[in-house]
Amino acid sequence: MYDLIGDVHGCIDELEEMLKALGYVADLNAEQGDFRHPSGRKIVFVGDLNDRGPDSSAVIKLAMTMHKKGNALCVIGNHDDKLMRYLKGSKITPGHGLAETIAQLEKTTPAFRDEVKNFLSSLPIELILDDGKLSVSHAGLPEHLQGVKNGKAKSHALFGDVEGGKKDENGYPVRRDWAQDYKGSRIVVHGHTPMKEHRTLNNVWCIDTGCPFGGKLTALRYPEMQIVQVQAKKNYQPFHPFGQS
Ligand code: MN
Repeated sequence: MYDLIGDVHGCIDELEEMLKALGYVADLNAEQGDFRHPSGRKIVFVGDLNDRGPDSSAVIKLAMTMHKKGNALCVIGNHDDKLMRYLKGSKITPGHGLAETIAQLEKTTPAFRDEVKNFLSSLPIELILDDGKLSVSHAGLPEHLQGVKNGKAKSHALFGDVEGGKKDENGYPVRRDWAQDYKGSRIVVHGHTPMKEHRTLNNVWCIDTGCPFGGKLTALRYPEMQIVQVQAKKNYQPFHPFGQS
């Protein structure tokens, strides 16, 4: 019933190839990006649609169209959140590919940017699906933060377990691998931390396989729990920080 897709990060070609591989069909007479599945399956994006890849604007447009037509759900990622804050007029530092995304959006219309702002603002930090059996959030939520709406849950959903504020040698926050201790019965699916291969550990699935870093775009078919992957067409980034986002 769901096809969950890991961090897309502007990789539009790989996303379109993935949708076709999953059996989604584009309605060429309708809006660009109007993909739907003949048996009514829905895409669930785990967040981080934009930054780093070649065309964030096209990826956002596609996700927004599928969302509007009821063919996709999406949770917010840290990159989407930062773009949303920029579009709302907050002062932000446009690092990690955001400057390129902003430049792409500058070429669109104010109406489109408004639509993006409203779309991103509407995205939840977590989706609990399939009668409570599945929790989807960008960085994943441990059992005690699932279904919780507070600052701690939001921070964990966007950034993972980065308490303490320690940074590694590349300036990225050090993250605790909370999935190692997960004992919840709910299946957790998340992205955020690019891994060389998708990981399933204690009912926790990480499906971010670093597409913009020359890795793969990964989808998880649910409830079949089958993995479908599309190889990145190239390495869009000079730096390859697997294990970080
Ligand atoms: Mn990411």
